[in-house]
Amino acid sequence: MERIRRDDIKSLTLEQLKERMVRMGEKPFRAVQLYGWMHRKLAGSYEEMKNLPASLRAVLAEEEPLVVLEKKREQVSGIDGTKKFLFALPDQNLVESVWMRYQHGNSVCISSQVGCRMGCRFCASTLGGLERNLAPSEMLDQIYRIQDLTGERVSNVVVMGSGEPLDNYDSLVTFLHMLTDENGLHISQRNVTVSTCGIVPRMYDLAEENLQITLALSLHATTDEKRKELMPIAQKYSIGELMEACAHYFRRTGRRITFEYSLVRGVNDTPKDAQELAALAAPLSCHVNLIPVNPVRERGFVQSERRAIDAFKNKLEKNGINVTIRREMGRDIDGACGQLRRRHLEEEKKG
Ligand code: SAH
Repeated sequence: MERIRRDDIKSLTLEQLKERMVRMGEKPFRAVQLYGWMHRKLAGSYEEMKNLPASLRAVLAEEEPLVVLEKKREQVSGIDGTKKFLFALPDQNLVESVWMRYQHGNSVCISSQVGCRMGCRFCASTLGGLERNLAPSEMLDQIYRIQDLTGERVSNVVVMGSGEPLDNYDSLVTFLHMLTDENGLHISQRNVTVSTCGIVPRMYDLAEENLQITLALSLHATTDEKRKELMPIAQKYSIGELMEACAHYFRRTGRRITFEYSLVRGVNDTPKDAQELAALAAPLSCHVNLIPVNPVRERGFVQSERRAIDAFKNKLEKNGINVTIRREMGRDIDGACGQLRRRHLEEEKKG
C-alpha cells in the first residue's frame, strides 16, 4: 500500500532538511532558505526560489521532485461562501479539502488518506476502501495551495476530511509539528483539531507528543451495541476504553476533548440517547458537537428533524454539558467527507 515516499523534501522537518542538504554537499543555511520557500512562502516550484543558486535548483528539480498539489475542481457554496477543492496528488490520486470562513478566521479541513478503511456506515469516504496514506507534504500542501488560491491566511486547521488520521500516525505527527513550526505557517496548536473514530492505542500515543491540539472523538452512539452497527472500529474498542483514553488525554495535555455526534433520524436521536450521552460526557472535561447527519445517497441515512435536534441539545444542556450544533457549511456543494471525490470518479467512469 505504501507506494509513495514519506521522506520527500517537503515532508522533512527543518532539522532533517539540514541533514539532507549537508549530505548533498550544501551549507545548512541553504536548508533554512529552502524551508522558508516551501513552508512560509508556499512556493509552487523550485524556479521561484530565486536566492538559491541555479545549479542547486536544477539538482533539486532532478532529484527531489517538489510535491505540489494540482487543483482539479473548485466549488463555491452560494449559501455561505464555503469552498471545496479537489486536488490531484503527484501520483494522480485525488483528495478533497474544504475552506470555511468563520468570524474567528479561515479554517481548512484536510484529508489524511486517499479513501479510508474504517468503514463507518454513514461516511462516503470509506465506500471505496483505503487507497493509500498521505505523506506529510501532501497534508501540508492542501493548506498551502488553499491559502495561495484564496489569498487569505488560514488560521485554523481541522483534520476531519477523508481518512482516519490516527491510521496514518507517523505522517500525521510530523505534519502537526511542521504546520505549527515557527519556520512554517506557524499555525497555533490550539487552532488545530484532529478527529478520530477512536483508535485507542494511538490516542494514548498522541497524548505523549507534547502537542496542544484538540482531539475530537467521533462517538455517534452511546452503547457498544449501537456503535458497532454504525462504526466497525467499535468491535475493537469499547466505549468504556474510549472514555478512559479521553480522560487520559485530558490529564496529560490539559486539552478538553470534543465529542462528535452525528444525529441520524430514528437511529441515535431519542431523548434516551441524549440522556446516555450526558452520562458519558459528564465525568469528562469535554464539549459535544452535534452534527445533523449529511445524507449520503449510498447509505440511506436521513437527518434528524430540527425538533429532535433541538430537544437533544436541550437535554444535554440541562445536564450541564457544553454543546454546540455544527453549522452546516457548504450543503449545496457535497460538503460531506468524500462526496466530491466520489462524484468526480463516477463522472469520469461515465466518461
Ligand atoms: N476518520 C476521522 C475523521 C474524518 S470524518 C473520524 O472518524 O473522526 C470527520 C467527521 O465527520 C467524523 O465525526 C465522521 O464520523 C463525520 N461524518 C462522516 N460522514 C458523515 C456524514 N455523512 N454526516 C455527518 N457526519 C459525518
